[in-house]
Amino acid sequence: MRRKIVAGNWKMNYDLAETELFLVELKKQVFPENVMVMIAPAFTNLNHAFNSVREHPVTIVAQNMHQNNEGAFTGEISAKMLKSIGVTTVILGHSERRAYFNENSTVLSEKVNTALENEMTAIFCVGEELKDRKEETHFELIKTQLSEGIFHISDDAWKNIVIAYEPVWAIGTGETASPEQAQEMHKFIRKTIAEKYSKEIADKVSILYGGSVKADNATEIFGQEDVDGGLIGGASLKVDSFMKIINAFG
Ligand code: 13P
Repeated sequence: MRRKIVAGNWKMNYDLAETELFLVELKKQVFPENVMVMIAPAFTNLNHAFNSVREHPVTIVAQNMHQNNEGAFTGEISAKMLKSIGVTTVILGHSERRAYFNENSTVLSEKVNTALENEMTAIFCVGEELKDRKEETHFELIKTQLSEGIFHISDDAWKNIVIAYEPVWAIGTGETASPEQAQEMHKFIRKTIAEKYSKEIADKVSILYGGSVKADNATEIFGQEDVDGGLIGGASLKVDSFMKIINAFG
């Protein structure tokens, strides 16, 4: 009953020609019916990508946006700009934004509000660093990220939220959380949402896993009860490996 999603986060990869090359191949593919396929290209290629896949079951997603709707914020992109080119889904709070661009929970909670006010879907990312896991504070940290970043929204707003759990130590490192570690944290996230809101709301939220998901580990990870899909970095840059991950649900 929960939406199954496989989303490719391309980060700062692929120019216009490379984006189109990928999409031409992707458009030839047939996806399992129960899986929503998403791609998050660079800002400069969103407009092209959106038009390119217009007739296909692929959702084009932004990797970030500014919390303000307009104004003197040189270099930034607003929700209105994204919506004007058809993009209505945005990734917020990726660990790289948190770490390299100082996005803290205050800013992220504002971004969540802006997304919701603009009737967009937000893929809200949480994840602990290795030191948190070693110190066994990872559950507490994830709870704090949820509480500070998103637990101010209304019950109704949850229909526009997807959560992505991405342990920082597993991103781009080849080190994946084991299926058991992923399930344990996803279950915890769902329980935390249920405690703050309700079981009904928590049961409907799709929770994606991200961090070194590859063709050869996707089936096991996606097989976990509370894992509803993946946010894929490196392996989403090739149609072949991305399709294998999508088909892990098939
Ligand atoms: P990798 O799949 O390259 O580890 O990246 C995961 C990620 O950060 C997706 O947002």
